[in-house]
Amino acid sequence: PLVLGIESSCDETGVGIVRGTDLLTNTVSSSMEEHVRFGGVIPEIASRAHLDALVPALQAALAEADVTLDEVDAIAVTSGPGLAGALMVGVCAAKALAVATGKPLYAINHLVAHVGVGLLNPRGGTGGTGGSGGTRGNGADKPILPDNLGALLVSGGHTEILRIRSITDDVELLGSTIDDAAGEAYDKVARILSLGYPGGPAIDRLAREGNAKAIRFPRGLTQPKYMGTAEEPGRHRYDWSFSGLKTAVARCVEQFEAAGEPVPVADIAAAFQEAVVDVITSKAVLACRERGITDVLLGGGVAANSRLRQLTEQRCSAAGITLHVPPLDLCTDNGAMVAALGAQLVMAGIEPSGIHFAPDSSMPVTTVSAPSRSQD
Ligand code: ATP
Ligand code: MG
Ligand code: FE
Repeated sequence: PLVLGIESSCDETGVGIVRGTDLLTNTVSSSMEEHVRFGGVIPEIASRAHLDALVPALQAALAEADVTLDEVDAIAVTSGPGLAGALMVGVCAAKALAVATGKPLYAINHLVAHVGVGLLNPRGGTGGTGGSGGTRGNGADKPILPDNLGALLVSGGHTEILRIRSITDDVELLGSTIDDAAGEAYDKVARILSLGYPGGPAIDRLAREGNAKAIRFPRGLTQPKYMGTAEEPGRHRYDWSFSGLKTAVARCVEQFEAAGEPVPVADIAAAFQEAVVDVITSKAVLACRERGITDVLLGGGVAANSRLRQLTEQRCSAAGITLHVPPLDLCTDNGAMVAALGAQLVMAGIEPSGIHFAPDSSMPVTTVSAPSRSQD
């Protein structure tokens, strides 16, 4: 099916078009620059930017894919989680399109879309490995059995390990952060280190010049009392915590300043990144081994991180787990991931959501798409 996807949950306005599992186009415009001077996304500014950007993004996507709205089989839109006002713009646009064209509409979970994008065929034709940075493990051509598929979601607002029995209607949460998300930790630490906003890409770049072993930052929730054993798992065996790490970085900077010494910013960035990536990958691989998961979809904005991609590859490969990593431009928010999950729903014969759903800023990851309901 030809599916058009609309994304507006945060500061990216995205329109993507897929045909089944083939990506046709991915148009993204971001209001990031308008938020830089505030050091974080300002919801009201983001909403207004979506209003300006949506129609041009839609027109550009249709032109680039060389398709008309008439040819589209279904429309998919992010209905949550995210900023309420920002979500509202995409949802209203999608409802208007659906009503005007008579096409079925799917209200989609942004988080499931972040990992579901890994089911798109790699770009660039022959060779099997994806376009810009897309990689697939050796066993990617084997069919993925339900029960054996997991997903590691590492984004600006979420850090979760999931079991996916069906990407269209059966997603289980195995573990998650109990405080800050990984992307949030990157952004907060970048602020402490005066690296500007958004922090993830800046720390990724700077960490390459630093020594990750110069300082050892804590790995949250790894003590035996939280981990327990395989037979008697502790309450937080598959969970993460990043707020203590952020505090440890702040203390470290203060100590250098108090001693009148220059702050080794690159070393701190590298050591911080190593702590985040180490604990994310070790717990994710542990959960997969203990739950019999053999295939993992990696997704979310932090999945663009070079060290996370590298260490996840290494540890999954050592554990015999096949890892599916999206290309860099499909990690951060975009419309193609929404279209990709929409196409999965169409192909699975899932009922469309209709137009009587509301955006849900705290939609849980276990709700893949909003169920159809009559106006009440
Ligand atoms: P969510 O998807 O949980 O609702 P979000 O949509 O705001 O949150 P994403 O767009 O998925 O988040 O990801 C944005 C986050 O990814 C930001 O925190 C940003 O710092 C981080 N990020 C982007 N690129 C990198 C990178 N190379 N290294 C580390 N973090 C990165
Ligand atoms: Mg963003
Ligand atoms: Fe996101």
